[in-house]
Amino acid sequence: MTVGASLSERLLSGDPRAIARAISLVEDESPDGAALIGQIFPQTGRAYLVGITGPPGAGKSTLVDRVITELRKAGRTVGVLAVDPTSPFSGGAILGDRVRMQTHAEDPGVFIRSMATRGHLGGLARTTAEAAIILDAAGYDFVIIETVGVGQDEVDIVRTADVSVVTMVPGTGDEVQALKAGIMEIADIFVVNKADREGADRAAASIEMMLSLDDAMSEGWRAPVMRTEATTGRGVAELIDMIDRFREQSADTLGARRRARAEWRLREILGRRFMQHLEQHVLAPSEFGDWLDRIAAREIDPYAAAATVMGRALGERVSTPPLTVDHVGIAVADVEASLKFFTGVLGLVADEPQDVKGQNTRVRFVNTGDAKLELVESLAPDSPIGKFIAARGPGLHHVALRVSDIHEAMARVVKAGVRMIDQVPRRGAHGSLIAFVHPGDTHGVLVELKQPKSPAEVA
Ligand code: ZN
Repeated sequence: MTVGASLSERLLSGDPRAIARAISLVEDESPDGAALIGQIFPQTGRAYLVGITGPPGAGKSTLVDRVITELRKAGRTVGVLAVDPTSPFSGGAILGDRVRMQTHAEDPGVFIRSMATRGHLGGLARTTAEAAIILDAAGYDFVIIETVGVGQDEVDIVRTADVSVVTMVPGTGDEVQALKAGIMEIADIFVVNKADREGADRAAASIEMMLSLDDAMSEGWRAPVMRTEATTGRGVAELIDMIDRFREQSADTLGARRRARAEWRLREILGRRFMQHLEQHVLAPSEFGDWLDRIAAREIDPYAAAATVMGRALGERVSTPPLTVDHVGIAVADVEASLKFFTGVLGLVADEPQDVKGQNTRVRFVNTGDAKLELVESLAPDSPIGKFIAARGPGLHHVALRVSDIHEAMARVVKAGVRMIDQVPRRGAHGSLIAFVHPGDTHGVLVELKQPKSPAEVA
């Protein structure tokens, strides 16, 4: 990891090329990126993270450029992460970078980077928080995060920034939209941008009114409504003053806010990592899809499916009761004729007949207490049962053992070097999943593993 080490050193010294490289690493979610975050993380927490959000057309980009200029006048350095709703293939993010960089290109106190959302919802790219850590480590006083602002749920910014600035434009009904999108609640500061436009007073007044409605409930900081003209820069210095005031007044709660963010982040990472673990180490290649099919078909509920998969991931066998005999399969020439003996003479009760398409068989289960008898008739000469009868005549055919998790049971069998006839489970009668073990490895007995339709039937 010498490359990583030198990269982190260069990053900590503020080398722009190292910063760009580091952000690319975390954007690609590479292990090197994670290692780098680990190296620099202790050095972070000094930058102030400013989130700027709001609907499209609110002039966020121009406002951010003005904020940069104003911060630089005061000798403060600033890193900017501008989140674009572009796909990584359109090149839009790169073009956005180029246009924005022109104003501040020569200024070493400014670093601007666009990040594509790559389909991530919530207003930010998935790795925006990590990119902010990198800019923090590089020593910028402020890190500005400009969200996509496509009017969707923009809550991610609260989980990333120290202060949330919500921008709006007069005369567009943004306030109402914002209220719907839940942006009002996340705002620490409101900005009516393009305040020279007609309706600016009305927009500001309607925001004030909405704020006063839940004033009674809130205590402490009351979000002020600022006015800016990003094109001329009017009001931008005042906005920065307000950000500083918020920072001062919320100093006591900053720790709690960052801890809440850490909690959200850790939960999110753990959730994602656990899913990766399941997909890579617990579930068979096509198994996740099997679960989805079964849930969609109402054969199992999502909680029971999750419980089974979780149990396996955690190495529990609680969901696997001792094997019980589900049924004994008997090959018969004619199911209905055979009932004369099984129901007529023995007095047992038979279930309704059922055709098993994949097997070309017709079956009737006969109830005998715990285990059943499965009477199987061939519907085609070349079916397995048809061949069995042709070779040996009717009679005992197989023993079915009930399992709660057929994938787990098959894995156990295969691991022990025992061959399966079926490499993947298939549909049996009554929506069950079944798989046959090779009789060559079971002392001549054809063993069927059967996972009933719902786990309730297992118990
Ligand atoms: Zn069977």
